[in-house]
Amino acid sequence: MRNLTKTLLFSSVIALASCGGSVKQEEGFNYIDERFADIQMLRYNVEGFDELSLQQKTFIYHLQEAALWGRDILFDQNGRYNLELRRMMEKLYQEYQGDRESTDFKAFETYLKRLWFSSGIHHHYGSEKFVPEFSKEWFAAETGCSEEILNVLFNPEVMPKRVNQAQGEDLVLTSASNYYQGVTQAEAEAYYARVKAEGDQQHPVMHGMNSTLVKSADGVIYEDRWTTNGKYGKSLTKVVENLKLARPFAEDAKQQEVIDLLVSYYETGDLHTFDQYTIAWVENTDPLVDFVNGFTESYGDPLGMKASWESIVNFKDLAATKRAEQLSANAQWFEVNSPVAPEFKKEKVKGVSAKVIRAAILGGDLYPSTAIGINLPNSNWVRAEHGSKSVTIANLTQAYAESSKGNGMLKEFVYGAEEEELVKQYGAFTDDLHTDLHECLGHGSGKLLPSVDPEALKAYGSTIEEARADLFALYYIADDKMVELGLLPNADAYKACYIGQMQNGLLTQIVRIKLGDQIEEAHMRNRALIAYWALENGKGRAADGKDVMEMVNRDGKTYVRINDYAVLRTLFGELLAEIQRIKSTGDFEAARDLVETYAVKIDYDLHKEILARYEALDIAPYKGFINPVYTPIKDAQGNITDVVVSYTEGYAEQMLRYSKDYSVE
Ligand code: ZN
Repeated sequence: MRNLTKTLLFSSVIALASCGGSVKQEEGFNYIDERFADIQMLRYNVEGFDELSLQQKTFIYHLQEAALWGRDILFDQNGRYNLELRRMMEKLYQEYQGDRESTDFKAFETYLKRLWFSSGIHHHYGSEKFVPEFSKEWFAAETGCSEEILNVLFNPEVMPKRVNQAQGEDLVLTSASNYYQGVTQAEAEAYYARVKAEGDQQHPVMHGMNSTLVKSADGVIYEDRWTTNGKYGKSLTKVVENLKLARPFAEDAKQQEVIDLLVSYYETGDLHTFDQYTIAWVENTDPLVDFVNGFTESYGDPLGMKASWESIVNFKDLAATKRAEQLSANAQWFEVNSPVAPEFKKEKVKGVSAKVIRAAILGGDLYPSTAIGINLPNSNWVRAEHGSKSVTIANLTQAYAESSKGNGMLKEFVYGAEEEELVKQYGAFTDDLHTDLHECLGHGSGKLLPSVDPEALKAYGSTIEEARADLFALYYIADDKMVELGLLPNADAYKACYIGQMQNGLLTQIVRIKLGDQIEEAHMRNRALIAYWALENGKGRAADGKDVMEMVNRDGKTYVRINDYAVLRTLFGELLAEIQRIKSTGDFEAARDLVETYAVKIDYDLHKEILARYEALDIAPYKGFINPVYTPIKDAQGNITDVVVSYTEGYAEQMLRYSKDYSVE
């Protein structure tokens, strides 16, 4: 599972939740790179890499090679013409002798950049096919390509969506993603229903995740497995080669076992081996360096089984890890002192262990568009019996935060100079702390009463759960304990978090929603719920009798002003107590009332105003990352004596190099 929510939060700007000046930044690091179509390219800083040991650096070097070798797999998974089109277009891009400033060539260049970004011809987020803005005649003349290819590119009826989710249609036949061949949705569903029924019910493997489902000419349906000697064999062989080169530099024996199991699974395609691998991986928590490499997420399959290939190599962020550990170490204190009724508190609470990492490389379905948090494995029984690893990727959130500085968002939406100053000084800092409190303590606090069904809140469950974690964080970030533990510099810093969260919940988060639509996503609903509830219930309750918080209209623009931060904190405490009661007792009606009253509807005129102000800022809605380049320094015997990281490679340059150096055709 991926945490994209924060990505949405940051990349959509919501500067107030993210901007601020206290993120440690290396002098002169360029976070912002080129922009094209609806994309802003960024770079991330692998701070701390130089301080790693030679063994760790060498380990990362080989693992990042393994991460880059899977790239072509994803292109093919996303659609069966993608690789052919990429190669054809790269050739044209590099060899074109005509006017490179012409309208056709410029439009073609943008198209190729989008194709690289999406690993295919469909939008990475919306999944709709790109519309070429260069002419069909020009492209046909320059490439001499077939009618079939022209049809794929230019005919809007052909492969219009990568993943079709429209109810009532055959989702397999109408999706362009390349996971099924000649099979209808009904045939695929029947096939897997049978396979699942025949398999282990207690400990089911992830059926179908590593194969293409094919119907042969004589009507037999079978799985074409993705292994070193099966489909994608050439790419997987290179991935395995580099995993084997990495193995001697692993940090402990358990990590070597992880690699051995992964290699064995790539060689056999055996899903029981895959389960053993994930168990070994989830239990391997000591090493500083860790990695994901494999068929992982199933968002690209309309039936949600086939997993796209991805990789990330990372290492623990020690400073942030220490911060999270400090919270976890005090978990019991936070539980005992929370405003929740005693019967809903955990007797013994265990903080979730530290989990802040720095990405060293992004590959496959995590590149260039990426998640900022990952929670794996996806197998339910492995999670239940062996746990999971849940990480936030600090240097990516840092890059989002740094790049959104100066984009005009803060100036446009913040109420006044005093608020702006607070956010600039403490915004990013308190946002990280808020995330830590939410993840390390919030989700883990409280308990259900014995007979309560964990699913009792049904469709409102995830909004209530997110609100619970957020309120826990909002309540405690204003506590003296934060300053006492050295997590905040002074007693005013938390105000930056309140400004950001309230402004986001009341105003800015809706820039992601189409005018006229409602709020659907659970994290967004949670933020609206808290902010609108506090706005409503703080009426007349400020120390001076005013409203705790108010919406102010100035020159036709709406702003949020917080009049009494201390009482706002009290309100968060009250709502936390109520939300925990709802969760603990499974009070469905109360959950529904809260969510439907405060978290779903958007005022049409306000929405229109916010969208107009946001559009005027001209901020790219999507962001992605150019990878750093790792160069090994070798001695005369060919042993690596150091690994140097650089950040100067351009976007097109990187894509062309990957196509040249990490492609098996
Ligand atoms: Zn959460």
